Amino acid sequence: MQIVFIGPPGAGKGTQSVRLAEYLGVPHLSTGEMLRGACRQKSEIGIKATEAMESGQLVSDDLVEEIVFSRLEKPDCESGCILDGFPRTVPQAEALDHWLAKRGQLLSGALELRVSKELLVERLSSRGREDDDQGTVLERLRQYDKLTHPLLDYYGNRQVLQVIEGSGTQDEVFSRVQGVVAEMNSSSSEQAEK
Ligand code: AMP
Repeated sequence: MQIVFIGPPGAGKGTQSVRLAEYLGVPHLSTGEMLRGACRQKSEIGIKATEAMESGQLVSDDLVEEIVFSRLEKPDCESGCILDGFPRTVPQAEALDHWLAKRGQLLSGALELRVSKELLVERLSSRGREDDDQGTVLERLRQYDKLTHPLLDYYGNRQVLQVIEGSGTQDEVFSRVQGVVAEMNSSSSEQAEK
């Protein structure tokens, strides 16, 4: 199963995607974490990504695609993975579809964690990550609206989008995630039987 999580910073994507990966027994791939790792190691990709990340901008599609597709090639991703923070633009989504199609695979689903702006700001101001200062957070929210929000139509048109209400406790949200994934599983086995 290949599942992508979409949601603005503060929606709970990180927590929920880690839990889902553990639950399904597949790797959790966070492009934010991979990029932060590359920045710490001062690798070529890390050096190129640092400025964009520090200012709350998105890193260029080609750099992110390079890092994520080389990770997806690893054997532990063969039976699926949970993608957290990728794709974040329509060209990245097209690149992922293309990558999967070349391997005879399809995306199982795109899960949107939907949270009100008020709750996002409240969560982000109590999180305290290094790229969470107020200006950077606002820029990341703007980038989400401008570049990532169009993905919802992209996946909606392909009928793989599932919207999950992201308010409430982590356990409450996770039981919604489990419900949606169970439905995805049963509809994909019905399709296979046809
Ligand atoms: P995250 O941990 O997912 O919130 O990502 C932290 C930062 O990494 C973002 O603000 C972007 O600068 C960068 N980043 C992560 N994933 C992507 C992506 N798919 N495309 C472009 N930039 C990304």
